[in-house]
Amino acid sequence: MIKAKKSLGQNFLSDASVSRRIVESVSPLRSDLVIEIGPGTGALTGLLVGRSGFVIAVEIDPRLIEALRNTLAAENLSVIEADALTVNWDDLIARGREWLRQAGRGGGEPERVRVVANLPYYISTPIIERLLRVRAGVKDMTLMLQNEVVDRIASGPGGREYGYLSVLVQFYCDAKKLFEVPPSAFRPAPKVRSAVVRLDVRSRPLVEVGSEEGFLKLVSFAFSQRRKTIANNLKAASGALPYRVPIEEGLRASGVDPRRRAETLSVAEFGALYRALFEG
Ligand code: SAM
Repeated sequence: MIKAKKSLGQNFLSDASVSRRIVESVSPLRSDLVIEIGPGTGALTGLLVGRSGFVIAVEIDPRLIEALRNTLAAENLSVIEADALTVNWDDLIARGREWLRQAGRGGGEPERVRVVANLPYYISTPIIERLLRVRAGVKDMTLMLQNEVVDRIASGPGGREYGYLSVLVQFYCDAKKLFEVPPSAFRPAPKVRSAVVRLDVRSRPLVEVGSEEGFLKLVSFAFSQRRKTIANNLKAASGALPYRVPIEEGLRASGVDPRRRAETLSVAEFGALYRALFEG
């Protein structure tokens, strides 16, 4: 038995019905290339290998790599020892496509990868940010995260959970919370509840903006002090954001009341505000 390392967020799924439910929600095709982050002891990997064209499993812990290679050897599985935060994703996807072709599968939509992960909670946001940067090569992501993070990702304006992460993810993906998973489904049991979220990468961002980077910067500043109004947060950021029109004028032109808080603005309203302030 391999002892779970807390420092690597190792809470292994022990409830097989949850593994089946996750893989069922991915429903991989025989032509699909799947990249699994953190296969651990293989709770999802074995099921994925049985249903997909090719699976690349990226694991950081060498002890688990060896065990996986011994127990799950399959011609459509490659277990790679790497840190998912620093691995070259473009290269990984390109190699996977080649393996998929060599395995005689492919034919579906091999250009775009399906990502599956039961992520260590402490790296979930940076991993999502990385995946969003290589989104052109990704079709969708099915991720198990801390329940609270899933709520932050999938919630709409008006609630406490809605913030920069919600806008960032929803700008690029259609996000849907699938189901919650109790701590008892893992060994060792984590302290918090988990949930599975599905992110379908959009063919183009939800709103049209001249600069995606500029748009996200505006959103980030808008949320910098949640208790302040949007007008006050934007004023405080004027040194960092080169507005082309005065803030009040931009807010008026985009139909946003200056007394509102960022957490009440939809992604579409942020888009309108960006265009009024920077492209008006
Ligand atoms: N998928 C398995 C399951 O559902 O039982 C394991 C999930 S466990 C929550 C997270 C896994 O991610 C562990 O196997 C851990 O070693 C691995 N991991 C942690 N940090 C990683 C990183 N930076 N890159 C790749 N894998 C990582």
